[in-house]
Amino acid sequence: MTGGMYEIISKKRDGGDLSREEIAFVVYGCAGGGIPDEQIAAWLMAVYIRGLNARETADLTETMLASGSRISLDGLPGPKIDKHSTGGVGDKISFVVAPLVAACGVSVPMLSGRGLGHTGGTLDKLEAVPGMNVFLTPAEFRRVLAETGMAICGQTDEIVPADRKLYALRDATATVGSIPLIASSIMSKKLALGTDGIVLDVKTGRGAFMTDERDSLELCRTMVAIGEKTGRLTVGLISAMDQPLGRAVGNGLEIAESVATLKGQGPDDVLEVSFALGECMLNAAGRTKTGAEAGRMLREAVASGRALDVFRRFLAAQGGDPRVCDDPARLPTAAERTEFLAPRSGFIEAIDAFEVGMAAIDTGAGRKRKEDAVAPGAGFVFHAKVGDPVEKGRPVVAVHSDRPDRLPAVLERLAGAIRIGPGPVAAPKLIRHLVDRNGIHPWAG
Ligand code: URA
Repeated sequence: MTGGMYEIISKKRDGGDLSREEIAFVVYGCAGGGIPDEQIAAWLMAVYIRGLNARETADLTETMLASGSRISLDGLPGPKIDKHSTGGVGDKISFVVAPLVAACGVSVPMLSGRGLGHTGGTLDKLEAVPGMNVFLTPAEFRRVLAETGMAICGQTDEIVPADRKLYALRDATATVGSIPLIASSIMSKKLALGTDGIVLDVKTGRGAFMTDERDSLELCRTMVAIGEKTGRLTVGLISAMDQPLGRAVGNGLEIAESVATLKGQGPDDVLEVSFALGECMLNAAGRTKTGAEAGRMLREAVASGRALDVFRRFLAAQGGDPRVCDDPARLPTAAERTEFLAPRSGFIEAIDAFEVGMAAIDTGAGRKRKEDAVAPGAGFVFHAKVGDPVEKGRPVVAVHSDRPDRLPAVLERLAGAIRIGPGPVAAPKLIRHLVDRNGIHPWAG
């Protein structure tokens, strides 16, 4: 390679394609601290504006992956399938689908993150369970996986170190929303875990990272292509995130809803997304061949109580109190509970997931900055969702708050988020497409 970072920035700025060597120069210079922040920031902006082609995106992913360590799952029996969601509001699907799929004989290892801004984080939700430890060594992670069929822990500093630096600079330079940068960031971390396959849940809509369905499809297609190019079976679903998923939003409240779902008493939308992803995971693992076969197996895992039992054992193996599965009162509660009342009678036409996620921060359930703490018992429980009738003055949302000073702001935000109209409306289609190595297919479900 001739030249250095200055030439690489200029080349991308002018619309050129970078060689694998040039991309590796950026990644290793970023991970090792050899390239100053201002040059990395300029490169990120050039990539944001000019994009990366499929080869460059794959090269970026692979060199990011190679810059750090991996967690090997070799020697553990049976197929292992990872599930990743691009995140949303009320997204507790991991706590439902992982035990479901594990109860069907497929192990589910996951490295997860914390919530930031309007979206919640898997680790924050798990930490609402008293005693739960989400920091495991690779050896502990393997042990929990072998013993229970599922394991969830936080990203370690050694996995894809370049991503931490790149993400912080993207955050500061308005370059987060670039599809090749998002895809390589997510997939490099997914590929660091030695699974047999990856199932992606790419959200679309108001509460999602990508609000436009075409962008969500493009992100999903890009991630599937990266996974398949590196020899990992990868499929993705595009699912709606216009209104919150399920009825509960908030850490402990979402754990309680997940447990109810594992008992067969959860909301229909949580079950629908969990079963769709579960079907993809069982098929990817070669455990089943058709959706119908997978559906039967997953339903049996709920009816028999085996899925709930996996979740109980998983919590205990990571130090958590498994009794929350039998007695949700053991989960933390918020200081105050109040109700948001319907301002008029009619039918709910929309619940803006982004606004609900922002309102949840004001209850204490979410964080604005990485260093903020979250309140484990705070958040919302919706009594009604899109399409449901409501009556003036009757409760629509239970508000669990640890920040009484912010309550007026929470109620005002909910009032802006919930649209009530005069006539019944149909709830929008939840799962839109399946993306695999052969392309994009409508989800038949
Ligand atoms: N999640 C990630 O891990 N990286 C991104 O760039 C966006 C979401």
